[in-house]
Amino acid sequence: MSKPEASQKRIQAIRGMNDLLPDQSALWQYFEGTVQALMQRYGYAEIRTPIVEQTALFARSIGEVTDIVEKEMYTFDDRNGDSLTLRPEGTASCVRAAMEHGLLHNQTQRLWYQGPMFRHERPQKGRYRQFHQVGVETFGLDGPDIDAELILLSARLWRELGLMEHVTLELNSLGSSDARAAYRDRLVAYFEEHHELLDEDSRRRLSSNPLRILDSKNPAMAEMLAGAPRLIDHLDAESREHFEALTAMLDAAGIDYVINPRLVRGLDYYSRTVFEWTTAALGSQGTVCAGGRYDGLVEQLGGKPTPAVGFAMGIERLILLLETLELVPDAARGELDLYLLPMEDAAIGAALQLGERLRGELPGLRAQLHCGGGSFKSRIKKADRSGAHLALLLGEDELARGTATLKFLREEREQLSLSQDALAATLRDLLPIA
Ligand code: ATP
Ligand code: MG
Repeated sequence: MSKPEASQKRIQAIRGMNDLLPDQSALWQYFEGTVQALMQRYGYAEIRTPIVEQTALFARSIGEVTDIVEKEMYTFDDRNGDSLTLRPEGTASCVRAAMEHGLLHNQTQRLWYQGPMFRHERPQKGRYRQFHQVGVETFGLDGPDIDAELILLSARLWRELGLMEHVTLELNSLGSSDARAAYRDRLVAYFEEHHELLDEDSRRRLSSNPLRILDSKNPAMAEMLAGAPRLIDHLDAESREHFEALTAMLDAAGIDYVINPRLVRGLDYYSRTVFEWTTAALGSQGTVCAGGRYDGLVEQLGGKPTPAVGFAMGIERLILLLETLELVPDAARGELDLYLLPMEDAAIGAALQLGERLRGELPGLRAQLHCGGGSFKSRIKKADRSGAHLALLLGEDELARGTATLKFLREEREQLSLSQDALAATLRDLLPIA
């Protein structure tokens, strides 16, 4: 092969799409493992769908006049000329799959998923073009009890991760579609009175999606928005009852929340309950989990009317939050317990076998074998650099006597010489092994 030209640029990853590097993967696995166990404990089953769908699925569900569909989707024609889109979120795919496989037929579903999502946004801290979500979707349940369960489930996750005191639950109700239509008219009238204060985006949304104007972060509009009529004051009776029952359940469960009448969410398909968990610790990318009820979506996509409620959380933001708040537990640092160090080539076979024996006896043990030989000094140096707590040395002496030498790499402490039969018990005492 010829050498690449010096002038040829090395190919790099796509902007806003990140590699997950080895020094971070233990933390992701800790997060993902915690989530997976949590879902099992609440009786939610995982669903996996393709990351590409027909473009029409997202256009029809998320709504034509949303940030996502208007400007954030990765859409392309495949070789057959079909318009495909990298999924920007998980709900639409989940509904599509559930309908396609008859999962909504006279039954309820509690599903969860996890995986990459794609949005062509301006990359910044906590906002990427490929990012990852964990999401939950439930179908066939229309009461406030399931809304409450979703909030309790997410609250348990925050508690387990140590995040509870750093997040706030914001709640709102968007009412029924009739109530929303009536409210929409009032809101448009109000915005028309204040037309001169609307920015360009908002003027455009005035006819297409005026509720989204409430969500604007433009400080010049803040005062005007604060005076706008509130949907929560104009709810239909059933939605009001639903919302009051939900807040009563949260009160009884000891979950604090703030009612935010301007919480409307960026997607069109929501009705009734909407909520967000936010944090002040991540700057403007402060929403770590968001969701709500979308009772109309299944029907909108051609199915039978089916109540549904769900949420999605952004994994990158939660990982960032754990790091920022220094809440990464030792077990999520991916550190080695033991470095198995044959001190000469004659000890390699014994080190391999002892490693196998210890991994069998101590399933939680994280042990790495020194490979590649080297001088005495370089072997010890590699052991130090491995980050392990202990090195297990095997040399001529040890082989002759059936012993092993344990060297403490992270503390000033005399090394121990032990019979190989006693090793597992000693390691269990010395190491924080699960
Ligand atoms: P935002 O207001 O921050 O743009 P959103 O309303 O677009 O969020 P959702 O579509 O509700 O977000 O997605 C749920 C969660 O996924 C968000 O709360 C956030 O944690 C995460 N998320 C959304 N977009 C991104 C992104 N581009 N990069 C990283 N995480 C994201
Ligand atoms: Mg967004």
